Amino acid sequence: MSELLLRNALNNIIKKFTKKTQKGKVIVISGPSGSGKTTLCRELLKRNKNLVFSVSYTTRPKKNKEIDGKDYYFVSDDKFFKMVEKGEFIEWAKVHNYYYATPKMPLIKAINSGKDILLDIDVQGGKNIKKLFPDGIFIFVLPPSLKVLKERIISRRRDNSKEISLRLKNILKEVKYIKFYDYLVINDDLERTLEILNSIIISDKYRLKGEFL
Ligand code: ADP
Ligand code: 5GP
Repeated sequence: MSELLLRNALNNIIKKFTKKTQKGKVIVISGPSGSGKTTLCRELLKRNKNLVFSVSYTTRPKKNKEIDGKDYYFVSDDKFFKMVEKGEFIEWAKVHNYYYATPKMPLIKAINSGKDILLDIDVQGGKNIKKLFPDGIFIFVLPPSLKVLKERIISRRRDNSKEISLRLKNILKEVKYIKFYDYLVINDDLERTLEILNSIIISDKYRLKGEFL
């Protein structure tokens, strides 16, 4: 092979790869209630300035410390379904008796501007997003044990006992979706878990998935 052909071949690969890495990634974090998704997302956002959070819409009532527009957009069923009709959501699902949805525009804007976007969504949402963004990073989070999970949910002091029971009951359905995820992380020590998540996000940028070459 002549030097020119070789140089062109290398340049093409580097150009194609650079273009691919210029786009932001969709990062999905799912797992049972109390497994630590909110905490992990918050900490990741503090440490990685190329990350943005996808603020979901929900019909569930706002709880103690939550901020409308930051944690969620809290909306009525009526407003939620008007937005569904207008096609403003990229996915939506009923979770623990309320509706939740990911708005389309912030996600498109983030990835086009090279930012990675973090989605704390349930397993139905994760499965649907994977169909749309097979190149995304899909992470499932579990607690170290059921005992620790219960302790964490109770100490969070956010949900009443009826809500906690429903959330615990739904775990068995949720873990059946692990097969749709790329990574499984056990959230035992917080710092260690954050280190693992950060490594996953960095290394996934360099991962070749068949279609590239
Ligand atoms: P989720 O968003 O998955 O429902 P949260 O992030 O609200 O879960 O976490 C549930 C509770 O567990 C919170 O009180 C949080 O501070 C605590 N928590 C999360 N991760 C850890 C950890 N690695 N070690 C100890 N406590 C944790
Ligand atoms: P919570 O009420 O504890 O904040 O969230 C309940 C569940 O809804 C969690 O599993 C959370 O990941 C999920 N969830 C939050 N936002 C969305 C969303 O936009 N879409 C979907 N499908 N699930 C969401």
